[in-house]
Amino acid sequence: MKAVTVPQTVHVEPVNDLIAHITDGEDCPCGPAVEPVPDGDGAMGWLVIHHSLDGREQREPHRQRPGGNQ
Ligand SMILES: [Zn+2]
Repeated sequence: MKAVTVPQTVHVEPVNDLIAHITDGEDCPCGPAVEPVPDGDGAMGWLVIHHSLDGREQREPHRQRPGGNQ
């Protein structure tokens, strides 16, 4: 039985990006999207999705930028 109910934060970040993404709770310069994710035991976790800053996302056709018309 898991006794820890501290919300978890999972970071998804691009590998080999131009910058080092900040995953320790500070604001990251890439402006990551944060989504609440319900944990199995009722706690709420966070999924932090970092964006690559080297332009690769513009070559990924199925990726949509949040709120973007770009
Ligand atoms: Zn980032």
